[in-house]
Amino acid sequence: MDNPPSDMPYIGRFAPSPSGPLHFGSLVAALGSYLDARAQGGEWYVRIEDIDPPREQPGAADEILRTLDALGLHWDGEVMWQSQRSEAYEAALDALRDELFYCTCTRADLRPFAGVYPGTCRARTQMPLDTPSAIRLRTPDSALTFLDRRLGEQSLTPTDTGGDPILRRKDGLWAYQLAVVVDDGAQGITDVVRGNDLLNTTAGQVYLQTRLGLPTPRYLHLPVVVDAEGRKLSKQNHAPAIDVTQQRPLLRAALQALGLNAPDLDASALLKWGVANWLDNITQLRSGDVPQPITEQGLAS
Ligand code: GLU
Ligand code: ZN
Repeated sequence: MDNPPSDMPYIGRFAPSPSGPLHFGSLVAALGSYLDARAQGGEWYVRIEDIDPPREQPGAADEILRTLDALGLHWDGEVMWQSQRSEAYEAALDALRDELFYCTCTRADLRPFAGVYPGTCRARTQMPLDTPSAIRLRTPDSALTFLDRRLGEQSLTPTDTGGDPILRRKDGLWAYQLAVVVDDGAQGITDVVRGNDLLNTTAGQVYLQTRLGLPTPRYLHLPVVVDAEGRKLSKQNHAPAIDVTQQRPLLRAALQALGLNAPDLDASALLKWGVANWLDNITQLRSGDVPQPITEQGLAS
């Protein structure tokens, strides 16, 4: 790699959920984390967050990997699959056992509280045998501070992020918050670079890291890509899958969404150019000079 060696160890990751093929918004997140890792001589891992089978689309994980590969976003090491990680999640739950409780609240019970868990079941520390229950972590309502490389110091309370987080769902599936923290820890991730839509989940993750004795990585939350109506591109609102035969325009559009106006180069030269220009560019992103959001239409050009 022709980047200056860094004395700071760097391990980054892209962690898609295979609920559909890669769309342009997730490509931008992937590219941002890739460029940040390579610009610092770091490693870049891919982790498939396949812990929610009901929301998965058959074949999506493989398609995501093929797409990354086709665009030249080559990862280091083996792909980690969260569906294979139950033992690690069990062990984490066990380590937290004194702070867990069993929540039998239904959706209807919680509706009046507008997404913030009111603590109803905090005293239920034994698993009820007759009613399905979620496992939640008792969380003090004090502010947690972390530094985002673009947005600066962030201070959020657990209430801001929904209160006592669910670690294992009522249907027995592992929750994102637990899995992401355990696996960032297991992979030694030093740098999380992802979309700003996940900023609010970070306080809960930092809290879990402290409870599990794991280090807190550096965070960089990127501006998210919106469509012509200003909505975040997502699988939920049917963002189109990207067409990997269009490597050059796709990469140029993704670079542009990250604030980089790239010259007209071929795909691999575009990535090299992106790596070379990335770190200066974050300074701009940081100063609030955020690029115009790209629209789906913009991709056609
Ligand atoms: N799997 C999560 C998603 O696709 C992202 C996890 C993360 O980057 O922390 O939304
Ligand atoms: Zn409850």
